[in-house]
Amino acid sequence: MDHFNYRHQRLYAEDVALETIANTVGTPCYVYSRATLERHWRVVDDAFGDYPHRICYSVKANSNLAVLRTLAKLGSGFDIVSGGELERVLRAGGDPQQTVFSGVGKTESEIRFALESGVSCINIESKGELDRIGRCAAELGITARIAVRVNPDVDPVTHPYIATGLQETKFGVPIAGAVELYQRASQHPQIEISGVACHIGSQLTDVGPYTEAVDRVLALVDQLQDAGILLQHVDLGGGLGIRYRDEQPPSPAAYVEALLARFKQRDTHIPISIEPGRVIVGNAGILLTRVEYLKHGKPKNFAIVDAAMNDLLRPALYQAWQEIVAVEIEPDAPTRTYDVVGPVCETADSLGSNRELAIRAGALLAIRSAGAYGAVMSSNYNTRPRAPEVLVNGARYSVVRRRETIDDVLRNETLEGV
Ligand SMILES: *Cc1c(COP(=O)(O)O)cnc(C)c1O
Repeated sequence: MDHFNYRHQRLYAEDVALETIANTVGTPCYVYSRATLERHWRVVDDAFGDYPHRICYSVKANSNLAVLRTLAKLGSGFDIVSGGELERVLRAGGDPQQTVFSGVGKTESEIRFALESGVSCINIESKGELDRIGRCAAELGITARIAVRVNPDVDPVTHPYIATGLQETKFGVPIAGAVELYQRASQHPQIEISGVACHIGSQLTDVGPYTEAVDRVLALVDQLQDAGILLQHVDLGGGLGIRYRDEQPPSPAAYVEALLARFKQRDTHIPISIEPGRVIVGNAGILLTRVEYLKHGKPKNFAIVDAAMNDLLRPALYQAWQEIVAVEIEPDAPTRTYDVVGPVCETADSLGSNRELAIRAGALLAIRSAGAYGAVMSSNYNTRPRAPEVLVNGARYSVVRRRETIDDVLRNETLEGV
């Protein structure tokens, strides 16, 4: 459930007409609903009941400072994949002690920054990384808390670009070799073993792969226990899917229940962390765009809009389908089938094909489910300034990232020495 609904034929974000935002902030523009963000986070949190758990929101899904602040205020932890994301968490008022650091290629300076900031756990993905963390921790005189991110080799049944838990991907340590890595970690005086982590992929629409991964990870927990290594938490990553079109992902409650069923059978209730991204923010945002031209012809009609693949990459990158709706329902406008395309000089620059729309030139469109992997993946391709981001809160809204100017885009370029 989200807070983007029609009232009197006009689409609103909470109590603000999207037309008002388009007229004041301009288009293209991302619009987020705070009530939706909060609701989604709470649904996931509540699903755990009193089972010990931590929700580490995956910053890469939407890293706007205002989004992070909103979630930090609810008590959320964070999952980061770079030093830049750690800086965002700190500036948004997030708690580093509730923050876990994931990623396959952490640099030495990122590791130092994380250790100095006191992040709660670094999820390591290789022996080289373990050794590097050990060295940095020794130099800084700090104890590093780590988990090993294992690759449980399960098929998440999702788009190949966002499947991460199969053996052939670059992610994690093969689960079979994990014990050896833990033993190596346990010998390092400045490394404290905190837990085990996995993340098998994104936009999962079935709990099967999760329960399979949980079984494999819990078998490892037992194996480690037999070897005298006790874990303080199990991090199951993120990846729960959302409905873009007709997917039927499990509800957060059903997903958490399936996980908990496995954990509750055990003698001790080992704390669980999860790292949801998309399920929190995906349907809490839309991309607002205006139709510049309608181009009618055979075999296609085109609605050429002012948003493009540089603003929203998912359709071009993953052939992802996102719903596109008219912001104002106009009963008199002719209904046609359109390809909704941007101005970028690439045939891949399509936001949606074969969409029935009753629109005229100048109409506003909302591309739904754009809160996750939308603004964060935007670029300046074709020297297009990045779109602003707006956060709606009831009847009020604020621009939480202003529109880039051409000067912003060109700021770091120089003609010196040319
Ligand atoms: C991307 C990512 C997530 C979040 O994935 P979602 O599909 O957005 O929930 C969580 N953990 C790790 C390690 C990730 O790389």
